[in-house]
Amino acid sequence: MSRVRVLLAGNPNAGKTTLFNRLTGSTARVGNYPGVTVECSAGTLRLADGLSVELMDLPGTYSLSARSPEERVAVDALFARGEAQPAAVVVVVDATALTRNLYLALQLLETGVPVVVALNMMDAARKTGLAIDHEALSQALGAQVVPISAARGEGLDVLRGQIATCLGNPGERSAPSVAYPASVEDAVAVVSPAVADFQPDASAGSRRALALWALLSLGDDELVGVPSRLRDATAAARATALERATDLDQAIIAARYAWLDAAVTRSVLQPAKNERSFTDKVDAVLLHRFAGVAVFVLVMYVVFETLFSWSAPMTELIEAGVGAAQELVQRSLPPGSLRDLLENGVVAGVGNVVVFVPQIALLFLLLGFLEDSGYLARVAFLIDRVMARVGLHGKAFVPLLSGNACAIPAVMATRTIETRRDRIATMLAVPLMSCSARLPVYVLVIATVFSSDERVLGIFSQGALVLFAMYAVSVLATLSAAAVLRRTVLKGPRPALVLELPPYRLPEWRTLLRSTWERVRSFLVDAGTVILALTIVLWALLTYPKSDEVAARHEAERVAAASIADTGEREARMTAIDDSESGEQIRNSAAGRFGLALEPVLEPLGFDWRIGVGIIGAFAAREVFVGTLAVVFGIASGEDDPVPVSDALASATHSDGRKLMTPLAGLSLMLFFVFACQCMSTIAVVRRESGSWRWPVLMFTYMTVLAYVVSFSVYQLGSLMGWGLT
Ligand code: GDP
Ligand code: MG
Repeated sequence: MSRVRVLLAGNPNAGKTTLFNRLTGSTARVGNYPGVTVECSAGTLRLADGLSVELMDLPGTYSLSARSPEERVAVDALFARGEAQPAAVVVVVDATALTRNLYLALQLLETGVPVVVALNMMDAARKTGLAIDHEALSQALGAQVVPISAARGEGLDVLRGQIATCLGNPGERSAPSVAYPASVEDAVAVVSPAVADFQPDASAGSRRALALWALLSLGDDELVGVPSRLRDATAAARATALERATDLDQAIIAARYAWLDAAVTRSVLQPAKNERSFTDKVDAVLLHRFAGVAVFVLVMYVVFETLFSWSAPMTELIEAGVGAAQELVQRSLPPGSLRDLLENGVVAGVGNVVVFVPQIALLFLLLGFLEDSGYLARVAFLIDRVMARVGLHGKAFVPLLSGNACAIPAVMATRTIETRRDRIATMLAVPLMSCSARLPVYVLVIATVFSSDERVLGIFSQGALVLFAMYAVSVLATLSAAAVLRRTVLKGPRPALVLELPPYRLPEWRTLLRSTWERVRSFLVDAGTVILALTIVLWALLTYPKSDEVAARHEAERVAAASIADTGEREARMTAIDDSESGEQIRNSAAGRFGLALEPVLEPLGFDWRIGVGIIGAFAAREVFVGTLAVVFGIASGEDDPVPVSDALASATHSDGRKLMTPLAGLSLMLFFVFACQCMSTIAVVRRESGSWRWPVLMFTYMTVLAYVVSFSVYQLGSLMGWGLT
């Protein structure tokens, strides 16, 4: 049986989510609209007498104009027919910004849908001395107005009662009668008949409202599901208006605001005493040219530090847990394929997923705090001009910064960017930021081929300078990639920053924790399963097929070694045999053969097949590179210690006896890691966030091509100049 659906609409920051959580309790679940990555939550709202309905939290919108994906989703849900037709709409209105918030309510009332107005933030309104006669407002709007405070849980029972009453009395409502000028009425007369195609069962009143909506919303952008007759009628009416030199949009909006101003003036008993004074005072500092920037740098530093260092103890704890679980598997199962699968496929895969949780949770907790408190809008405002140079939105700054720690939470953090084009561009550029997983690779290579004692210009150590250069290159690459993407595949106008700076408010911790948990959960469920599956596939590639010949030969060596009398000597010999066996087996595995087959392609970059296998292994997670190289070089027992790997790398040679790791080859390898998209978790999360495989495929392709071209050019040019020979 389908359930009665009630929608929760309102401007951004009106308190919809807070109210939604209050009303639905633990029944809420978050979903994604197909096609557009706009989140939406639904839950059960229990009304009196065992009556329960489905409550849906719509994305915040200022109007029904369907210009952004959020607005489109809201419009679709409001105009849905059949099963999904809403039985009532609760409009959440911020009482401290009454006129602007009521605009959406008025637009909805004009369509004739049953509306209940939840007059939210009454606690904040009272503090400023604002007094509203909600009865008078009800009269004017022709809909029940219920004063509430979602944050404090005040007035919710009355609200539930009014929703039930509203559901109990369907039928024609008297919509507010806004007086539109003649030019608008003429246009409505042209469009109204065509509305019948779009909404056959619409009443006269709502047909009129839909005509107004079409006049305002059916611009040049494609809105799916709108019949051509309505589109044509709208275009015709607009053309007529243009001939008469009247601006229809302006006329409609002005008439509505005039009506609202009158209604609000009649119902406000006592206006707020300078209601934004607190916010204004804070903004005088936070938007100040110097002080504002200083605070901004400080806040961003805290965000970065959180991701980079504060999450480390938790991440280490998780890694220790994964290690313990692997040991448990090792102890409780006999050696063999099953044990290996559980230990290095399944447990390692779950570990690969769970390690991201501390960073994701911390980032979203911080980001939620910044957003709900109102500061994030200021960040966007402060940095927008700089970001505009590369065609990105001001809000892209925080995700880009977070990308320095890890691309996974950073990609998820792009959710604060409203426009889809900006969001995807940011998402595709973020993985070029030097995440912390690249650091062990840089450190390994630098330790192998660059000296830390040699000073450049007498102050900088060569190693530190190279490391700094890698970070600089990655920032430059990220910004350039974004600029190119916004001018090519994601070309489009950069919407002017119409940012409302909401008043500062203390975020509610319950809402924060809940939205953080939602993000973590969706990561675990959607991206996590893909990561787990890929880890297992990669494990299989690095493990199979196994060579019986290699196994038999090493078994024979073990038998021989078992007779060594000295315990210490015997165990050392056994470890050496194990290491040598792992090394030979990985060479024989699918990944090993693939690495060998790739050698001709990798040779011009200065790599050999062993580094090729390392690169394949690094696809699981870049930090695996060091461990995979350890296995390839047959020194697996020191897996977590880079020193023996560095030594092995330093003494390794190509088959013709040339040194493998020259400074030039090292540079080429590090640059490859800067550019290459070697992180299946990033691919999984971009797939999840963009809603299709198209974008992660594009990202993987452009990054890999870039990595190859850069490494190739550097190595070849360097060799020509004679740098790579020592
Ligand atoms: P949404 O964008 O409409 O979903 O709004 P949210 O529910 O995220 O709320 C925006 C901000 O307003 C948050 O910081 C809330 O804690 C705060 N807020 C919500 N309801 C109230 C209220 O009744 N009173 C006060 N003072 N703050 C509220
Ligand atoms: Mg919300």
